[in-house]
Amino acid sequence: MDLPSYTPADAPVPAGTVVVERASTPQDIGPKLNRTAADVVRFLMQQGEMVTATQSLSDDMIELFAAEIGAEIRLVDPGEEQEVELQRLLEMDEDVSDAVYESWPHRPPVITVMGHVDHGKTKLLDQIRNANVVAGEAGGITQHIGAYQVVRDGRAITFVDTPGHEAFTAMRARGADATDIVVLVVAADDGVMPQTVEAINHARAAEVPIVVALNKIDRENADPNRVRQQLADNDLVPEDWGGETIVVECSALQNLGLDDLLENLLVVAELEDLRSTDDGRASGVVLESHLDIGRGPVATVLVQKGTLRVGEPVVAGAAWGRVRALITDVGEQVREAGPSVPVQVLGLSEPAVAGDRFVVAPDEKVAAKVASTREHWKRVANLGREAHAMAGGAKLEDIFTQIQAGETATLNLIVKADVTGSLEAVTESLRKLERDDVKLSFVHRGVGGITENDIQLAAASNATILGFNVRPDRKARELAETEHVEIRTYEIIYKLLEDIENAMLGLLAPEFEEVVTGEAEVREVFRVPRVGAVAGCMVTSGVITRNSKVRFLRDGTIIWKGAVASLRRFKDDVREVAAGFECGVGLSDFQDLKSGDIIETFEEREIPRT
Ligand code: GDP
Repeated sequence: MDLPSYTPADAPVPAGTVVVERASTPQDIGPKLNRTAADVVRFLMQQGEMVTATQSLSDDMIELFAAEIGAEIRLVDPGEEQEVELQRLLEMDEDVSDAVYESWPHRPPVITVMGHVDHGKTKLLDQIRNANVVAGEAGGITQHIGAYQVVRDGRAITFVDTPGHEAFTAMRARGADATDIVVLVVAADDGVMPQTVEAINHARAAEVPIVVALNKIDRENADPNRVRQQLADNDLVPEDWGGETIVVECSALQNLGLDDLLENLLVVAELEDLRSTDDGRASGVVLESHLDIGRGPVATVLVQKGTLRVGEPVVAGAAWGRVRALITDVGEQVREAGPSVPVQVLGLSEPAVAGDRFVVAPDEKVAAKVASTREHWKRVANLGREAHAMAGGAKLEDIFTQIQAGETATLNLIVKADVTGSLEAVTESLRKLERDDVKLSFVHRGVGGITENDIQLAAASNATILGFNVRPDRKARELAETEHVEIRTYEIIYKLLEDIENAMLGLLAPEFEEVVTGEAEVREVFRVPRVGAVAGCMVTSGVITRNSKVRFLRDGTIIWKGAVASLRRFKDDVREVAAGFECGVGLSDFQDLKSGDIIETFEEREIPRT
């Protein structure tokens, strides 16, 4: 009789992550994990699962077995090993030892400019470019490809020329960190403003050093010392005040201080010891992409490692192709591009998504196959991103698991509230909940509705969003769903605290999800005697139903909550009105309406905890 052969429990397992296809059988996975099929069958039997050696296993069973023997696996859909393989190559490229890294030459720093609107980001980028760009011998015409390179004292600096934190955060949300240094532009006359603080938080969340460009120093009402104080208040203590933040006074308009700024960027770059090699397979990140009539899909990529060459097969997210041409920011066609060089790539199958990684594939077939399974690719990217985010703390729903694991758990939070007072109150009360084993990290705090930006920041930093008297708008809600970002909104502070406390105890209450059933925009407000205010609305999504619960939002902030008292179309009372139609909404006891307000009807539904 054939006795099944069992492997000793302490036999070694394969190092690193093993790719396992979904629905594998014990016969498939046993050998992959240095075990026999019999080991798998026996283990599952002990768990009460009767399976044969040739039977397909569920994800759970596979994962259970892997956990039992201490092997690390990554489940993929059948036929998608190539994608994962490519991802592995990427990771391998990134995962080099210190000694290897040290042996590489320095590379140009990649700079993103952020700051409040109108503080001079665009002007600054334009001036730096005009003053320092090295037009090629071919005398190309400078063009905006999403990034450019300038040379200063013989050393190159790369600027991402889509200013603002949207692009920066969108990129981080996709797991790509392209920026080495953030230039924070603060106008000397206007000082630190809400978007300045947001930019600081974004840069901090990404652990990217900040250099402050104290701009508009030429303005009569410039008050640089007041700005220095404001910066210090935000934990950016200027160097000349004994702190560590480089603050460069400048005027983008008059081209003053910009040389100084560049010098300082080179100093920081040197401190950061940024290195790369132009050897080997090129990889990097997509900065922007569009469809060009005539040239087809055009993607600007930033090469981060290796050298990208014309003719090579590349994959960028779901796009792939053989590189037909490489064009620089001065409009020159080049044969190759090395580390920190931004180039336009022609020859892709479709526009890539900003923030997607690109990599040169072993061959064209692999590139095509990888790109064709875009759903899977996205999942892999997500996996990478989650792993990336996990390093820095946990979401609300995971916090208890972390506490139990005996680690010091950090709960990442983004707090949005209706007014500064409540924001402070919420933050202060939350801080009191901190324990030795649970720390809170406020990734961002701000006043106003919950926006797409908040969601992206949350996705990038693995944070839960807490809203106090504010709501996400529709776009934010949709993005939160695709990015799996949890938003919890409250109108009573102790409810909020209770929830967080319970989460720390592993008792997170079932969440009552408020399902938004309809949305309408107030176009006009009528006063009707004895009825009160009636809002003439256009239903913009879903259905507005009489008697449904409703809240009014002004700029994302809840201004009133109650019920729809009456609903009319023209003169008729109706039960519901669907999207695309106008209607009159009567409210019994709320009068303070304005056109532009948003009416949101909703239902409460309990979401079971998983
Ligand atoms: P952005 O919104 O941050 O990109 O700001 P812009 O670069 O568009 O600049 C906003 C306005 O401020 C424009 O009218 C610029 O000409 C002006 N501006 C930018 N830098 C300076 C400066 O250093 N001094 C003065 N006086 N005006 C500036």
